[in-house]
Amino acid sequence: MAKHTVTYIPGDGIGPEVSAAARRCIEATGVDIKFEEVNAGSDTLEKTGTLLPDSVLDSIRKNKVAIKGPITTPVGSGFRSVNVALRRAHDLYACVRPCKSYAGVRSRYNDIDLVIVRENTEDLYAGIEFEINKPATAELIGTIKNLSKSTIRDDSGISIKPISVFGTRRIVKFAFEYALAHNRRKVTAVHKANIMKFTDGLFLQVAREVAKEYEGKVEFEDRIVDNMCMQLVQKPELYDVLVLPNLYGDILSDLCAGLVGGLGVAPGANIGDGIALFEATHGSAPKYKGKNKVNPSAMILSGVLMLEYLKETKAARILEQATAEVFKEGKAVTYDFKEDRDDPTAVGTSEMADAIIAKVKKLK
Ligand code: NAD
Repeated sequence: MAKHTVTYIPGDGIGPEVSAAARRCIEATGVDIKFEEVNAGSDTLEKTGTLLPDSVLDSIRKNKVAIKGPITTPVGSGFRSVNVALRRAHDLYACVRPCKSYAGVRSRYNDIDLVIVRENTEDLYAGIEFEINKPATAELIGTIKNLSKSTIRDDSGISIKPISVFGTRRIVKFAFEYALAHNRRKVTAVHKANIMKFTDGLFLQVAREVAKEYEGKVEFEDRIVDNMCMQLVQKPELYDVLVLPNLYGDILSDLCAGLVGGLGVAPGANIGDGIALFEATHGSAPKYKGKNKVNPSAMILSGVLMLEYLKETKAARILEQATAEVFKEGKAVTYDFKEDRDDPTAVGTSEMADAIIAKVKKLK
């Protein structure tokens, strides 16, 4: 029996190409992993009639670790998103996105080393929404009129923003524990507590309480989200681990990915208690499907995060170093690394993975 069994979900769009590249790179490290393949998304819908078969949920539940390619969210199907459903089904409440500069990746900055810890289950993303002109919306508008002095225009749609003590406490604790485990010096809580006193204000209050438990071990500070955006662009070196409610976490993840060269190199992990799913930040980029063109690095670096999670530290370091060396040499890299996107020296997805695998073999 293999030391680790991991659920492997190729995804759709560019998913199967970048997932296969990441899988080959992980296998090249020699770690004893069995990949249990199941799939979800539009290709699965065509074959099985469902976007998210139970076999996927069962496999993740059994193996407790999964790596997943991006999956398209069908427009107008009534199904919110396979990605959101997977996170919900397994209560993967922490989305972790390290944003790190690598030599050879074109970017305005060269010394970024930030980690975004985003709450994954609450906030405006909870999916509690009331559509314009529906009876429930009219009832809610009436109730709010009775309960508070504010009025909401009758022609409104409404999205609800719940933030709980429970949800905040566990994400902030997660951020501090992550900081401790990864030798990080500081956690910054990001919010808009000055305006949304009962949601973001609660987030900040609970974050301050949790921070007290880590006094003397990890520093703590807080920033208002708009100021945080400006600070990240002007002096990103001042920050380390950022912990945020869901919506700000979503937005700042992309901002920070932009600081280090974009979506092609932004890995991610969705983590719950004793269960984790690793995936790139980017989506399924359907226009590139089957073209062997896109950058596999975000998936490969997600594989590095998975190896770290599995405590295969040496394999993780080798794979990260091999990837960094290929970036630095700038030869066997995909079009998005090049100044001119039509540069004929750019290689394909699988050729970039081959170059990384060759480096892994040398470093082993
Ligand atoms: P996207 O990330 O798929 O693509 C946006 C653009 O970014 C692409 O056109 C491409 O130019 C570039 N890009 C993305 N990945 C790249 C890579 N690996 N290498 C080089 N360039 C890359 O975002 P989108 O177009 O907004 O979303 C497409 C679909 O993906 C949607 O259905 C969306 O819901 C879904 N999505 C899925 C996930 C997920 O599975 N976790 C995440 C985000 C979006």
